[in-house]
Amino acid sequence: MHNVSHIKILIVDDDTFMLKLLTRMLTKQGYTSVNSCDNGRDALKLIDNAYTCPDLILLDLNMPDMDGIEFVRYLVDRQFHGDLILVSGEDDRMLKTAEKLVHAHKIPMLGYLHKPVNPDKLSEIIKKWEPHSLENKLQSNNKIYDAEALRFAISHRELVNYYQPKVSVATGEVMGVETLVRWHHPIDGLIFPDRFIGIAEANDLINELTTFVLTDALTQAKIWQQSGLILRVAINVSMDNLASLDFQDLVVNLVTKAGLSPQKIVLEVTESQLMGADTRIPLEILTRLRLKRFHLSIDDFGTGHSSLSQLRDIPFDELKIDQGFVHRAWADDTLRAIYDASLSMAKQLGMEVVAEGVEDRNDWELLRQTGCDLAQGNFVSRPLQADEFSNWIIEWQERVRNGLILDSA
Ligand code: C2E
Ligand code: CA
Ligand code: CA
Repeated sequence: MHNVSHIKILIVDDDTFMLKLLTRMLTKQGYTSVNSCDNGRDALKLIDNAYTCPDLILLDLNMPDMDGIEFVRYLVDRQFHGDLILVSGEDDRMLKTAEKLVHAHKIPMLGYLHKPVNPDKLSEIIKKWEPHSLENKLQSNNKIYDAEALRFAISHRELVNYYQPKVSVATGEVMGVETLVRWHHPIDGLIFPDRFIGIAEANDLINELTTFVLTDALTQAKIWQQSGLILRVAINVSMDNLASLDFQDLVVNLVTKAGLSPQKIVLEVTESQLMGADTRIPLEILTRLRLKRFHLSIDDFGTGHSSLSQLRDIPFDELKIDQGFVHRAWADDTLRAIYDASLSMAKQLGMEVVAEGVEDRNDWELLRQTGCDLAQGNFVSRPLQADEFSNWIIEWQERVRNGLILDSA
């Protein structure tokens, strides 16, 4: 058993009676650090603070303002590392569907509780629990990097671009790459972007970071072009990049200087970020870049809240179905429904569709059967350093030629 006094639990439920009841049940079981909120917005404030961020959340699905499903999406945005128990008065089917959605977002779920909550069921679920967030804190180096360290890394070229191929599902042809930045830290080793993009955004460093990533990606695109490889090169653009009109000038200038065509450059913007509060300036910048023939891609589709009409207003060329709805969609009805809906929505709007997180043969076969345009994921290739790319392409073409990719197994 773990030392329960250190564990922070948060209950989110609009029913204040329920909050009191659950708090009492947990206190009886020895959990002394229990917080409660009667709405999602307040709960998110606690999650954003390192001192109050819970290890476990008991979440009511049905709440008037922000419901439980929407709340889960905000947890995903924040890369919440704790666990979740869903609580609801809804029937079993509804709870199971919600559980699958949570699972698709890769948030560890301990189980679900029906209202009225049975204290024995609650203690049974909690007893089986090993807090992930605590484990992670001990295991991986959970060092938080500060703005100074990141600034140093950018100026000393410790950031390195990796490139992950996007291939045509119908022909196997390599159509492009997505640029994914990593930090080669001299002491801590390889650090993934999830651990420093947020820091760059919060400290006004994201324009420097994106400039670095784009400049290197353009140099690489030029090298590929000169060796006869015409690839569409995508970079990830943060909403904070799109806060000022200078950004479009920067992108246009760098691409012109590199002597590349804007049509070969893709800007990926995450769906959930685009549907946020004030998006007028970002949308204006994107529209202008689109007019200059840059390709626009809507990323992590399925994790945000866009409607058909919102999508119609922004001239996206490409839609990327989030990996949470791709991998294993062949085996899971809920994932499959979201995958199918995203695919048909994109097709209706004339966008090219990329499925992300294609991890195995079964995932790939689903894309083939459903007529998805492009595939990206470890089944095709993990993200590669530039010097690994030419070897990979030879191997891939070999796989295609030998019928390993296009024939049904
Ligand atoms: P993303 O844009 O959704 O990128 C896809 C992520 O999925 C990458 O993680 C990639 O390594 C991973 N991935 C690829 N294939 C598979 C697969 O088959 N299975 C699984 N499970 N995962 C796969 P990565 O490189 O850690 O990047 C994480 C996120 O960081 C990216 O998500 C992107 O949003 C952000 N990011 C990366 N580079 C930049 C950048 O230069 N600027 C900004 N603003 N964000 C960046
Ligand atoms: Ca992306
Ligand atoms: Ca994505």
